[in-house]
Amino acid sequence: MKITAVRAYRVELPLLEGSYRWSGGKAVSVFDSTVVAVDTDAGITGWGEVCPLGPFYLPAFAAGCRTGIGELAPHLLGEDPTQLERLNRRMDAALQGHPYVKSGLDMACWDILGQMARLPVCVLLGGRYGDDVGLYRAISQDTPHAMADSVVRYRAEGYRRFQLKVGGDPDVDVARIRAVAAALEPGDRLVADANTGWLPHEALRVVRAVRDVDVYIEQPCRSYEECLTIRRHTDHPFVLDECIDGIAPLLRGHADGAMDVVNLKISKLGGLTRARQARDLCATLGIAMTIEDSWGGDVVTAAIAHLAHSTPPELLFTTTDFNSYVSVSIADGAPRRINGRMAASMSPGLGIAPRLDVLGPPVVAVTS
Ligand code: MG
Repeated sequence: MKITAVRAYRVELPLLEGSYRWSGGKAVSVFDSTVVAVDTDAGITGWGEVCPLGPFYLPAFAAGCRTGIGELAPHLLGEDPTQLERLNRRMDAALQGHPYVKSGLDMACWDILGQMARLPVCVLLGGRYGDDVGLYRAISQDTPHAMADSVVRYRAEGYRRFQLKVGGDPDVDVARIRAVAAALEPGDRLVADANTGWLPHEALRVVRAVRDVDVYIEQPCRSYEECLTIRRHTDHPFVLDECIDGIAPLLRGHADGAMDVVNLKISKLGGLTRARQARDLCATLGIAMTIEDSWGGDVVTAAIAHLAHSTPPELLFTTTDFNSYVSVSIADGAPRRINGRMAASMSPGLGIAPRLDVLGPPVVAVTS
């Protein structure tokens, strides 16, 4: 099988809540997402998606996805999309770095492999565990009272895991954590995600002030070294996210005992092939995982579901359904949340069919 064409589409995904806010005053109200199509000479088309969390979260931005796909696509024409390690080596040889550019292309090639093999991607990624996977809800940064109200509302929809966006004023963040913790019930889990927003002295104050609260602390500071310092001064369970962007930091973090949970985002790592590699390493080392992406619509949510559903359940800390946060559906067949849980499709490939009327004409088209 050979790749005959690559296309990219730009779609806007408005947030149902109006905006999503996190550390440092960063906010997004409409996500700029890129949907990727890879055509083959077998008549199979695979679909992928990549959606940065604005241009100021990770070193990635939406227009860069599309420019990068236009740069890479000519190198992929004529390549076999089903030989995924080989294809990723080809992408790495043609473009240094830029993992987010490669993510949607790699995802589309997994969709092709699944359609060809007539198997769901989760089976190809290792196997389907159980009926479904548990979701967390990200709670946009707001006043302590508003965040507690938000948790109560999403709890009523079935969620049992909540990720608070903190990383602001440390005194307000302590109030946020305490207000939300008071609204939880036995069995719920709470994560305070600072998204690199605290300086070390601020993070140290917060973890000491909430010492009696059952809360996970996620990525308190910008650098790995700063996070490690906080880790060594607290007994809260500890999550690393932004600074774990590949295998090397994962191995270092494990050797240092720097975290109990890592957050694996598909596009941060460069696609499903690289995310699977990190996932399998974590599973071997006994590191629990949140499996997700930076953001996305129906296609990303389908890919997340396949990777999460093929992760050993005792190691899957939580995962997420980004398509339920936005008001536009870009594909049929994507997972839909039921009681705070979702399941990967049983259909071949990712199990989605894009809504071409929503995608409009491609903004990148490279054909052999
Ligand atoms: Mg995070």
